[in-house]
Amino acid sequence: MDCLFCKIINKEIPTEFLYEDDKVVAFNDIDPQAPIHFLIVPKEHIESNDDINDENSHIVSHVFQVAKKLAKENGLKSGYRIVNNCKEDGGQSVNHIHFHVLGGRQMLWPPG
Ligand code: 5GP
Repeated sequence: MDCLFCKIINKEIPTEFLYEDDKVVAFNDIDPQAPIHFLIVPKEHIESNDDINDENSHIVSHVFQVAKKLAKENGLKSGYRIVNNCKEDGGQSVNHIHFHVLGGRQMLWPPG
């Protein structure tokens, strides 16, 4: 499968991981939109939030627990934002589900 994030997960594209366990990896975004901007990516190739179901939805709660741990480790004491872009209108550019964690500045609302 020609998937960028599968290649990163499988270490075919060398990328420094901030975190790895049996279910997810986390690494810095190549084009950071905040002083801290990393991605948490499930190892299972799930295309988007529209492909979350009863069998795989446990991964989402795990991602949020990892986000909390990494946010703390990265000093995001006063808060952070977790973003999932779903499909074209959501702004998804890599079709392997992932969660952005952004922090280190005041986030704005509404997002663009
Ligand atoms: P999306 O637009 O799908 O929500 O987010 C994809 C993210 O992946 C973007 O923020 C983009 O900067 C990041 N990205 C794309 N290619 C690479 C890459 O090769 N390495 C890393 N670390 N991030 C990437």
